Amino acid sequence: SRQGILIKGGNYLEALSHLDTVVFDKTGTLTKGVFRVQEIHAAGMGQEELLRFAAYAEGYSNHPIAVSLREAYGKKIDHAFVSDVRETAGQGVTALVDGHTVSVGNRRLMGKLDCPEIAGTTAHVSVDGAYAGYITIADEVKPDATGALSELKRAGVEKTVMLTGDEEAAAREAAGRIGIDEFYAGLLPGGKVEKVEGLLSAQKAGAKLAFVGDGINDAPVLAGADVGAAMGSGADAAIEAADVVFMRPSLDAIPKSIKIARITGVISAENVV
Ligand code: ADP
Ligand code: MG
Repeated sequence: SRQGILIKGGNYLEALSHLDTVVFDKTGTLTKGVFRVQEIHAAGMGQEELLRFAAYAEGYSNHPIAVSLREAYGKKIDHAFVSDVRETAGQGVTALVDGHTVSVGNRRLMGKLDCPEIAGTTAHVSVDGAYAGYITIADEVKPDATGALSELKRAGVEKTVMLTGDEEAAAREAAGRIGIDEFYAGLLPGGKVEKVEGLLSAQKAGAKLAFVGDGINDAPVLAGADVGAAMGSGADAAIEAADVVFMRPSLDAIPKSIKIARITGVISAENVV
């Protein structure tokens, strides 16, 4: 507890001392999850109008991208103009704004609409079925990510993996910067569960796999891993579903928890003898 690490049972402490693979969710776990709007490229309307449509459609969402769009818009959202909101996990949101059908999200959400491929997190916008432009959003990698990953290697973890619903280009860029062994992009929440199941079945006997996430769209994955760990800054559902909770956003807590687990194992073995 002094380290801000909550381990919900002796079995997880045991599993932590045999970790071989650590799988991370990207947004909010490896990155700060604090997004800021960078550029607005409107097609067929003004920049301000595009941003207004996007902010209104995202009026009810608590996704970090939605929050950044509302912040960039800066004015109060009049919810009387927003209805029929449908949020699709890992894709984005569609809503009726001022009588117009507005979709805000990634290329997958745009379906057959022709939209440019942009490196980095991008919110594409369509209005009444026509492409209306895109807004680029930057998220920062946590400053301690690279250090925590090399600590994990020193603690005996063989493989680090990043999963994300983000697009290939954005994922590749982040994975390279952090120094992660493998990454899988374009995953919907169900795809993350499948990936983790695949990694679990490829594990050596006795080796354990941990998944670390913030719980936004990934609570089912937390439940499926040998050790599901939640960064405490994340969603309540994650803290509920997790076996281990890191109360602070720092990634150093992961290698630290492995070391604590190992020392605990040694002490209890000595006591038995
Ligand atoms: P990650 O897998 O990196 O944690 P999510 O699963 O939360 O990210 O979302 C994956 C992608 O889906 C985002 O990068 C974004 O392109 C899109 N997306 C999800 N929710 C929204 C939203 N409310 N508004 C815009 N885009 C969204
Ligand atoms: Mg996420």
